[in-house]
Amino acid sequence: MNNPINKEPATKQPLRVLIVEDTEDDAWLLVRSLQRAGYELTYERVDTAEAMAAAMTEQVWDLVISDYSMPNFSAPAALAVLKESGLDIPFIVLSGNIGEETAVESMRAGAHDYVMKGNTARLLPAIDRELREAEGRRRRRRAEEELRESERRFRSIFLNAVAGMATLAADGSFLQVNPAFCKMFKYTEAELLGKTTFDITHPADIVLTRRLFSEAAAGQRQAVDYEKRFLCKDGETVWGHVANCWLFDDQRRVTFCVSLVHDITPHHKAQQEIRQLAYFDTLTGLPNRQLFRDRCRDVLERAGRNQVGLLVLDLDRFKGINDTFGHEVGDQLLKVVSERLTDCLQKGETLARLGPDEFALVLPQVDGPESFSLRAQKMLHCLAEPIELEQQPTYCSASVGLALYPTDSDNVDTLIKHAGIALHKAREQGTGSYRFYSPEMNLVTCQRLAMENRLRQALDRRELSLHYQPQIDLQSGRVIGMEALLRWDSAELGSIPPSRFIPLAEETGLILPIGEWVLETACKQARQWHQAGFHNLRMAVNISARQFKQADFIERLNHILQAADLDPEHLEVELTESIVMERSEDTLLTLTDLKVRGIKLAIDDFGTGYSMLSYLKYFPIDRIKIDRSFVRDITTNSDDAAITEAIVVMAHSLKLKVGAEGVETEGQLEFLRRCGCEEVQGYYFSRPQPAERAGLFLQRHFSGKAG
Ligand code: C2E
Ligand code: MG
Ligand code: MG
Repeated sequence: MNNPINKEPATKQPLRVLIVEDTEDDAWLLVRSLQRAGYELTYERVDTAEAMAAAMTEQVWDLVISDYSMPNFSAPAALAVLKESGLDIPFIVLSGNIGEETAVESMRAGAHDYVMKGNTARLLPAIDRELREAEGRRRRRRAEEELRESERRFRSIFLNAVAGMATLAADGSFLQVNPAFCKMFKYTEAELLGKTTFDITHPADIVLTRRLFSEAAAGQRQAVDYEKRFLCKDGETVWGHVANCWLFDDQRRVTFCVSLVHDITPHHKAQQEIRQLAYFDTLTGLPNRQLFRDRCRDVLERAGRNQVGLLVLDLDRFKGINDTFGHEVGDQLLKVVSERLTDCLQKGETLARLGPDEFALVLPQVDGPESFSLRAQKMLHCLAEPIELEQQPTYCSASVGLALYPTDSDNVDTLIKHAGIALHKAREQGTGSYRFYSPEMNLVTCQRLAMENRLRQALDRRELSLHYQPQIDLQSGRVIGMEALLRWDSAELGSIPPSRFIPLAEETGLILPIGEWVLETACKQARQWHQAGFHNLRMAVNISARQFKQADFIERLNHILQAADLDPEHLEVELTESIVMERSEDTLLTLTDLKVRGIKLAIDDFGTGYSMLSYLKYFPIDRIKIDRSFVRDITTNSDDAAITEAIVVMAHSLKLKVGAEGVETEGQLEFLRRCGCEEVQGYYFSRPQPAERAGLFLQRHFSGKAG
């Protein structure tokens, strides 16, 4: 409620008025009425153009109230001064007596209103209104200025941004593109403005991009953040990280889309490289084991009722080629092999490199074992063509193991393992063959594994022992030597023949500690027998290739002989043909070294290998032992008889002594005697027996005739 005593409002409104008036009294009246109306007034009176112009530059005015005509000035002239200043200040003409015409005139010249002097009732609302309108105009101007500024700012960002920026219409056509956007895709601005975003999208990502735009058009999407491929003008692919934002009008129709694109191609390439390293073999570019397992898993998951084939392929002679020609050539070979195998692939099949010379293939759909084996044959066939290595045609066969899902397993790792077991079998069968997995194979493998584990513990558990078989001089009929033969009585597996566990020991390297134990035990036993009076008794010990090839074999042997206090002359080392036939420098050196030390050398199982007797003259050998298999049939098979005779004759011509093993009958013995064979051993005289029993045999036959 207004205060009835004091009409002036409690808080006064400041008002700065420039009064254009020649009469001081009139001006005073105006000031009074404005103050009374509640304005906190600041004012100045001017009555010439110069004074007005000066006042305008000196101070800020909210309002100009001007008399119409003055001796040296007028409202139209004052309006001209105001206009000249460029300021937007409400201008009200206040005059005593002017006609309508002049009023219209002054309005036209830019006055905002026209009021008769003394008519305060009209003046005050006019001032109020004009101030309000002026404020409105000021606000509008400020807003327009701000908008212009923001547009300028946006324009500058748009033009100078490192990121690609574009605005697009709802249908994906470009409305604006910035220089970075043009540069990214190698188009000019003009070229892009005639295109849609789909025109520069990589075909692989068009469907996705279209879906996003339709979702936005349907109002289901306002923004999206994703990675996609673009196609540049020159056909190159660019990976972009895209942030799109759609703007809508009141009817929820897309007005346009703002798109921000970053080129992430280098980042993507780096990622690809990391992926390549993690999942692909660097030499051949094929998937590695890790990726192969993933792919197989996918295949099995989608297999449904299909049969899936898993094929593992291993090169037969890769190690040899690598050793002979060197690693570079080996690598070259692997590349050719991987290319040939890749050429055999059909759609959806994955070929991988699992090991140095091991490849694997998964076939998502095979029509049973027959068609699968045809594929295996085809793969083997494509490797049959010679491969040119160092200008030489090289033959590189392979072996293949096959396993089928779901028959052989429904688990990827087991399936790969089973194909590997089948591969192992195929290799045993000979080069260039393939085998299907069968559960029996697995059993054999499991048994092998179990045996290997037991064999590792056999020495510690004292399950190994030596049996001794006498060797008899045919002329005198006396025992001149003993052959130490290894026995294994496993607590769990029972008694296992050497033919079964020695190859395993060789493969696993267990033959080294075992062989050493055999030598120690045999040498000690020989020494004991010597001390028991069986002077000069020879001890024959079988030495495996792996043992013989140890760099410090001679050293170890020496050490054992010394520890046992056994004269080296009383030790005979039995080697198989294959060791000697390698004819390597090292072999010859070791053999010579043994010879120099006085150790005897015998070639065991002679005739079973591919050796030629004439080679033996290059080696310091004392004796050959004709293999049991010839002896077995000498009385019944004329070929074997002839071979045996020939071996003896030729050995004698090389000044080698000849022994025969596996003599079981009087007839065999007679035949060998006739041939001129010097020494024999076999069940006919004695089976291999534990030391104690062999000792008894010695007592009877060391000086007396055996058999
Ligand atoms: P080997 O050195 O040729 O041994 C001769 C094999 O013939 C022995 O089999 C022996 O028991 C057997 N034998 C001897 N006389 C007769 C006979 O009249 N009739 C028949 N049917 N067989 C006879 P064993 O003990 O089973 O040994 C088999 C092979 O295992 C040996 O063949 C040898 O190559 C290897 N071996 C045995 N002990 C050792 C060893 O300590 N170290 C190495 N590295 N190999 C050994
Ligand atoms: Mg032997
Ligand atoms: Mg033998």
